[in-house]
Amino acid sequence: MSKPTAGEYDFIIIGGGIAGASIAFELSLSKNILLIEREDAFAYHTTGRSAATYIELLHNRTIVALSRASKGFLNNPPSGFTDIPLLKRCGCIITANITEQHSLESAFQQAIGYGTEAKMISAQEISKRIPFIRTEPEVIFAGVYEPQAQHIDVDGLFQGYIKGIRARGSHTHTRTSILEIKRSDGYWHLQTSKHSLRSPVLINAAGAWADSVAEAAGATPIGYEPKKRTMITFDAPANVDISAWPMMGNISGSFYFIPEAGQLIGSPADETPSPPCDAQPDELGVATAVYNIEQHTHLQISKINSKWAGLRTFAPDRLPVVGFDAGTEGFFWFAGQGGFGIQTAPALAKLGAALALERKETEVAKAVGIDLTLVLPDRFR
Ligand SMILES: Cc1cc2nc3c(=O)[nH]c(=O)nc-3n(C[C@H](O)[C@H](O)[C@H](O)COP(=O)(O)OP(=O)(O)OC[C@H]3O[C@@H](n4cnc5c(N)ncnc54)[C@H](O)[C@@H]3O)c2cc1C
Repeated sequence: MSKPTAGEYDFIIIGGGIAGASIAFELSLSKNILLIEREDAFAYHTTGRSAATYIELLHNRTIVALSRASKGFLNNPPSGFTDIPLLKRCGCIITANITEQHSLESAFQQAIGYGTEAKMISAQEISKRIPFIRTEPEVIFAGVYEPQAQHIDVDGLFQGYIKGIRARGSHTHTRTSILEIKRSDGYWHLQTSKHSLRSPVLINAAGAWADSVAEAAGATPIGYEPKKRTMITFDAPANVDISAWPMMGNISGSFYFIPEAGQLIGSPADETPSPPCDAQPDELGVATAVYNIEQHTHLQISKINSKWAGLRTFAPDRLPVVGFDAGTEGFFWFAGQGGFGIQTAPALAKLGAALALERKETEVAKAVGIDLTLVLPDRFR
């Protein structure tokens, strides 16, 4: 076998968020990988801005299957991956007012149908767990409770992936901008701000920029839609222990809040279309979060401790896109992780790696419990 030339890799992965890092980790078990990130630090964009939860309620069958197939890894990561637990049980309640009972019942039936542990609870039962909720039927009438919803240590998961990639002998570059991408002689040739690189396969894990990377490589874009979501933190009520509160949101998707390290993280659950960018919170998003949380509870948010926004990037059918592009040789899609990219990362990365290595991918899909055709890029072609 000829020795690879300098700057040559089996796979070059563009995008140092959870998507790029997780698939790089899986592939680096047997291949020489380069993971490229444009920013000064990995996980600077969406991955570093998530709500850090594992929830099955309200997700479709494919996302539930990918999440559940990830739980083994999250509960019991490979040896040496991390010293800290990646999951901590918090539970989650989705509420409805009296006019939304039908939607709540459908969400409950769907969850049960997918095998999620869930139960219907009354407003009075919810108020035993979160005493500050409003229990008028036109505000909160009932809820679905998912006791096994979890908080995810995203930093622990992400750093475990990066450490693992390096320990397996593969490479990671930050502060690397791609100036040109060309295909010739069975290779992608990348000119970056620092290096000339080549690889037979280019993995597009560029999150909100996935379509831009495709265009630069001459591939047809998928039509991804980045959507901005706003987050705030605020103090818990004085002298109230919130550590056992579950996460709570509503079925119409106008707010949620999560206890975290003595304060509350809140969101208006917004989905504002945005171009790919360094998303920033705006006044309307913050004010809507405050208003909607106050409308559903007796919490008074007099001071915002911090605020941020991130882009959740969806393919038109809101499922991830994983696999080789049929029209562009050696171009592999791994983007569209929407609002579920952390909780699905381990299983999606294993599936992505199997597809990229052209190994028994249908067996992996079967093991994960998904219909592979629903995630392949061919569905848009
Ligand atoms: C507010 C919010 C709450 C969320 N809550 C949850 C949750 O509770 N649970 C959950 O599972 N998921 C959640 N998500 C979703 C999750 O965070 C995303 O699905 C996931 O982080 C997407 O990861 P990614 O790697 O695809 O994108 P990113 O993390 O954005 O990574 C893509 C990277 O590609 C880089 N890049 C782009 N173009 C180039 C280029 N040309 N050259 C080099 N690098 C490039 C970017 O700089 C970026 O760092 C949430 C998201 C948000 C915004």
